[in-house]
Amino acid sequence: MIKKIFIKSYGCQMNVYDSQRMFDIMKPEGYHPTNMIEDANLVVLNTCHIREKASEKVYSEIGRINKIKNKKKSLKKEYLLVIAGCVAQAEGEAMKIRAPSIDAIVGPQSFHKLPEILKNIKKRNQTIVKTEFLANKKFDELIYNNNSNSSAFVTIQEGCDKFCTFCVVPYTRGSEYSRPINEILKEVKNYTGSGVKEVVLLGQNVNAYHGNDIDKNERSFSYLINKISEIEKIKRIRYMTSHPLDMHEDLINDHKYNPKLMPFVHMPIQSGSDKILKSMNRKYNVNEYVEIIDKLINARNDIAISSDFIVGFPGETDDDFKKTVELVKKIEFAISYSFSYSSRPGTPASKLSNQIERTVKKERLKILQSVLNKQQKKYNKNFIGKSLDVLIEKKGRHKNQYVGRSIYNQSVFMNSENNIKGDIIKARIDNVTTFALSGNIIN
Ligand code: SF4
Repeated sequence: MIKKIFIKSYGCQMNVYDSQRMFDIMKPEGYHPTNMIEDANLVVLNTCHIREKASEKVYSEIGRINKIKNKKKSLKKEYLLVIAGCVAQAEGEAMKIRAPSIDAIVGPQSFHKLPEILKNIKKRNQTIVKTEFLANKKFDELIYNNNSNSSAFVTIQEGCDKFCTFCVVPYTRGSEYSRPINEILKEVKNYTGSGVKEVVLLGQNVNAYHGNDIDKNERSFSYLINKISEIEKIKRIRYMTSHPLDMHEDLINDHKYNPKLMPFVHMPIQSGSDKILKSMNRKYNVNEYVEIIDKLINARNDIAISSDFIVGFPGETDDDFKKTVELVKKIEFAISYSFSYSSRPGTPASKLSNQIERTVKKERLKILQSVLNKQQKKYNKNFIGKSLDVLIEKKGRHKNQYVGRSIYNQSVFMNSENNIKGDIIKARIDNVTTFALSGNIIN
């Protein structure tokens, strides 16, 4: 009998990558992917703990799944439910008590044990909780297939030792771990076999990478980028997310000298107020951040800079918020992501007494997003009439429409009667919106 697996992935690209690995490790067990949750024999919710009320949302999803599960049970059909990802790690045993219908709770550092866990579920007939931190073993045991033919995510580093006071990552993904260089190169080379031309190197703190080379010596992120560049079939390298503290000179220089390294850097600052940055334990101040941006622009003057912002962090005054808006106007980000602060249980910031009223946070977020959106549209407008190299990622929703990515990480729409998926083409941009560009192929 063919068994089917349905995975719903929440949150960041690292979860998307992990979900793909879960499909890959379940394939030899006879599980084929399905997009229909009702058709599955195994449902995995690969959860994220970043957004507000993340665990509540997972519990309400479990409630919906339970209805399908009960129906399947009455028909004597197998229907297993696994909760993976950061909510699973954070909630652990508590989740088993609150939602006993879950068959297994698996953290982000132990999901490679899924085949073994499934066998045990059937034997033991009780919820299995597996939340150990096994990052080094995990990467050895995973399987790396690829479904795309242009761009592939590659997790090179996981976890974090920085302990920003608002963040759960050090508790859910564990301490910083960098994969060995040869393992990463092997994975990248494997993807080129299916036509991949671009790799997006992922890590919670990707530029803190310090993995071992075959001589057992630690190497920097810059070294890794240059090793990947030697792979002829790889034409583009991207990375995210960077921490300002780990943005060293060698990496900045790579943006000047390495043509395969795309001119786009996502480096969150979070706030424009030094007081708030200190309270967030970000370990840099606004001037230091601006200095790094200046160095990046000096290295490559067309570089696109992207950031994240949290508004309404505990203790943020009107003046602190004003400083954030001023910083945004000064730097002119190509794109940015902004969120209202919401407390995460167990984090130091959740214990601060000076929490900000929800209405104030909402109002500040609205103001900031309006500035950021205008800035992004203005940035995109600069490209009208210009030509850009675009890597075509997929077909669009309309007939003959294709969607690709510019070197500056913008989505670009265009039409072609030929199949151009996976090609790098030149497009002249004739229209823009806040979030995308469109144009015509000129070669
Ligand atoms: S550096 Fe990033 S991942 Fe690490 S604690 Fe801070 S916000 Fe979280």
